Amino acid sequence: MPTPTLSAQGLEFAQALVRMNTVSENSNLALIDFAREHLARLGVTSRLTWNAERTKANLFATLGEGKPAGVILSGHTDTVPWDGQAWTVDPLSAVVQDGPQGPSLYGRGAADMKSFIALALANAERFLASDAPFAVHFAFSYEEEIGCFGVRELIADLRDAGIRPLACIVGEPTMMVPAIAHKGVYRYRCCVRGKEAHSSLTPQSVNAIEMAARVIGKVRDMAEGFEAREPRYEGFDVPFSTASVGQFHGGIADNVVPRDAEFRYEFRDLPTADARAMQAEVRAYARSLEPAMKKVAPDTGFAFDTICEIPSFLGAATDPVTKLALRLSGEARTTLVAFGTEAGLFKNAGIPTVVCGPGSITQAHQPDEYVTIEQLARCEAFLRGLAETREIA
Ligand SMILES: [Zn+2]
Repeated sequence: MPTPTLSAQGLEFAQALVRMNTVSENSNLALIDFAREHLARLGVTSRLTWNAERTKANLFATLGEGKPAGVILSGHTDTVPWDGQAWTVDPLSAVVQDGPQGPSLYGRGAADMKSFIALALANAERFLASDAPFAVHFAFSYEEEIGCFGVRELIADLRDAGIRPLACIVGEPTMMVPAIAHKGVYRYRCCVRGKEAHSSLTPQSVNAIEMAARVIGKVRDMAEGFEAREPRYEGFDVPFSTASVGQFHGGIADNVVPRDAEFRYEFRDLPTADARAMQAEVRAYARSLEPAMKKVAPDTGFAFDTICEIPSFLGAATDPVTKLALRLSGEARTTLVAFGTEAGLFKNAGIPTVVCGPGSITQAHQPDEYVTIEQLARCEAFLRGLAETREIA
């Protein structure tokens, strides 16, 4: 294959998007407006769906209106923050300079994953002019990094509007190697209410930290059980489901039996496992501790909240969308990825999905995040190929 080149507009758009601060907690409307206005100039109307405060929006657009169905190019508009990270360039600078793997675009979101969105936009005219028998949809969502929240609204809107896409390509960084599976990410918070007392009077108290510790021990036992007994899913760095407690808070003084404790934990389940069943097991264990607690004080117990539930994703090498991505990327093999994406949500909505995008996840979320110009050029060649595709099979 000849070495592809990156278009001037592709690079310009990628730089423009990286310069916008769209850390998940901030508004993403500057980026959405940029995309919407560019599409409007080409005569394409965007569907927006909003968060409750209307500070963030998803954009969905159809290029090739009137065609029976389309292929979604999906990407998230938000990024992780960079507080406390040691950057040698301004994370919003979008500078192009030599990097470890050649000339690269630097900045937060360069790899994860503004460049994919930028290249899709920069090639919008090509999709409009395409003779392909399918449309191309852009699906740009908010709050992916904190739980794939925006894309759920977007998918619900498609369902309500009767839009039934053919397939979905999620442009997360896979080095342009089509990825057909990832684990789920399920995060929960457990708040423990005990009964406080002077620490010399423990029989009259319910120690929230100690009760939390028992449930944390249960999570740990489950993690060891996955490692010891779960059927392996080869191809993942860790070929079994994992569980981990990430945060713990509790206690006010050495001589006070604590009334409150709180911890957060997660499951990363294999596509062949079931994180909701794991969570049900934790809750059942916590419930089994409650009668003894309530004997001391009736208002003690455990309360659980869901922080996020990003389902695992399992496509297939034989799916037409996977074969399409393999052909367009020029790759002979598929891969699995270690991170969560919206792919499982699209797949569960009945839309065959593959994950394939420029750059490497090893640069994502890191200081001095970058994507090589070569990867951007390969992504653009992929998108051009999509515009030239006549048949998905
Ligand atoms: Zn991402």
